Amino acid sequence: MLRERLSDAVYLFQSETYAQVNAGIVVGQTGVLVIDTLALPEETLAIRRFVREMFPQLPVRYVVNTHYHADHAWGNAVFPDAFVVAHRQTRERLRTHGQALFAQAQQRYPEWRRWRLIFPHITLDSGMLRLKLGPRLHVRLFPLPGHTPDGIGVYVEEERILFTGDAFTTIPALMADESDFDALVHSLQHIATIPIEVLIPGHGDIVFRGEVKDVIQANVDYLQCLRKTVRRAARRKYPGDVFATSSVEDCGLDRVLLGGLAESLHQRNLEALLWNWYQREALRSEDEFEDEYF
Ligand SMILES: [Zn+2]
Repeated sequence: MLRERLSDAVYLFQSETYAQVNAGIVVGQTGVLVIDTLALPEETLAIRRFVREMFPQLPVRYVVNTHYHADHAWGNAVFPDAFVVAHRQTRERLRTHGQALFAQAQQRYPEWRRWRLIFPHITLDSGMLRLKLGPRLHVRLFPLPGHTPDGIGVYVEEERILFTGDAFTTIPALMADESDFDALVHSLQHIATIPIEVLIPGHGDIVFRGEVKDVIQANVDYLQCLRKTVRRAARRKYPGDVFATSSVEDCGLDRVLLGGLAESLHQRNLEALLWNWYQREALRSEDEFEDEYF
């Protein structure tokens, strides 16, 4: 695991084993706030060990989950005395989607067996939530939907450091059945309006002030290109033929991103966006059916 000090109060932890997923801690006078819990119990335990060694007098007061996915929320149990904070839908989704997957993981991987899922104790819905970690250290949480409906951003106000969860990743990540294309573009545009010294994506390399606007724009451009490609594919009998000739580089992003995962993520994005469109069309035609006949 990579570790880096980003400012007086903020440290970054990045997985070297799973898709460059990022987590962080914010160290205040009254306690520590953990942002996301990485992908493997041993990585979450390494964060806890670091906090205990470096700041033995400080309790971990909060664990914030930027969304419900395993690599961001499954390690909550490693901090049993902390309040877990997340979007209201994170709690719901951990119950409806997370529990079954967690049980499967426990069967397959022994390292999960001593842990359990911990559901958020404090939630926000719309608007924002502000947590105080000291007289001049505040962390603001606010919705950043798109990758999933329950995405939130974590902004360390005084240091102007933003953890975006998967609303911003080195290459955008669309998920079948749960991503919302327009919401994701909107969240990226929102991020571009925030004063930022360091931007920490859910996955991938951190971005410094001077590069933030360009990187966000490249993400938005990528998404527009993705949409065009999917539109073209949807008109064909075999959409896969269009996908097979489309590469992440055609949409302006480098294939070496995320340790070479970019191309396979690109293909997954194409399929997810097409699938989500089909689902929406299906819903729409059901509505029309109702209007006509009932
Ligand atoms: Zn995710």
